[in-house]
Amino acid sequence: MPAPHPVLSVVVPMFNEADVLPMLVARLRPVLDGLDEAYELLAVDDGSKDQTPVLLQAARRTWPQLRVLRLRANAGHQAAISAGLAAARGDWVVTLDADLQDPPEVIPGMLEAARAEQVDVVYGVRTDRSSDSAFKRRSAHAFYATMRMMGATGAPDNAGDYRLMSRATVDAVNALPEDHRVLRLVVPALGFPSTTVGYVRAERAAGSSKYPLATMVRLSVDSVTGFSSAPLRLATWFGLGGFVLAVALLVYALVAKLTGATVAGWTSTVVIVAAFGALQLLCLGVLGEYVGRIYATLQRRPTYYVAHDSLHDGSDRAGSP
Ligand code: UDP
Ligand code: MG
Repeated sequence: MPAPHPVLSVVVPMFNEADVLPMLVARLRPVLDGLDEAYELLAVDDGSKDQTPVLLQAARRTWPQLRVLRLRANAGHQAAISAGLAAARGDWVVTLDADLQDPPEVIPGMLEAARAEQVDVVYGVRTDRSSDSAFKRRSAHAFYATMRMMGATGAPDNAGDYRLMSRATVDAVNALPEDHRVLRLVVPALGFPSTTVGYVRAERAAGSSKYPLATMVRLSVDSVTGFSSAPLRLATWFGLGGFVLAVALLVYALVAKLTGATVAGWTSTVVIVAAFGALQLLCLGVLGEYVGRIYATLQRRPTYYVAHDSLHDGSDRAGSP
């Protein structure tokens, strides 16, 4: 008998999570079985080098709803979730970390909230982060504040990657051509109606964090470059500033020459250096502007959103011109 079409898919990225996997199965399975809906658990094994794949295969024998997507090499948290979203079949998709920091018991409430409030996205929001280190809390706060300044609006405070998404949302995410997308910023940017469900973030149940500082830096760089061409625009401002300075230098050199306060050859050298410097900086700025536009176009983020069924023909789409 073919498995019924899942109403809910739960996508769990895991990288070397053998220590926590038995606990995850023990906590998650009763929650999902208790839903009384067809579901699938999509474990994305992000190139684990420990016993994770072995344990997953063993779990599959007694848990028919468990599907395992194994990535050939470690691709990183965000990429692993993206892989899971592409493979998920449910009408609703929840993404959940493997380490039980985000309690699976919240899932039924998320589904209920989505249906009751008729929204596409339910963000799990951490109402209490006392289990995270002060450094993690502070850096996260600075991160979200910066990203808001850069135009990544709509991301609720203290929301990570624990969220429920409708099929329409998942399809929209899957259709984005961007590499290195930071889902916690991209999903709000898609503009689907959303609500939040609060929960208390726990300590990692077992094992150690798979997010070293270098990965956090990588995530920040991806976030900034994904949401703003502000760094590129810097080239324009440096270019213009440099241009003005170079012209001033030119004028100064000519005046110095006319008043005779220079040594031979100085004026011509300064004039050449300043003129070419100014020209280069200006051209770099112009290039930066065009590269920024090319990038924005390539991202194919929707530029407008049509609200649910506003044409009364069942349409629900985001579009680009
Ligand atoms: N993870 C992954 N690939 C990686 C790093 C992490 O799939 O390269 C998974 C990890 O197994 C966990 C989730 O992403 O399920 C979040 O990682 P972690 O709990 O280590 O991050 P933290 O909570 O410390 O920020
Ligand atoms: Mg964690």
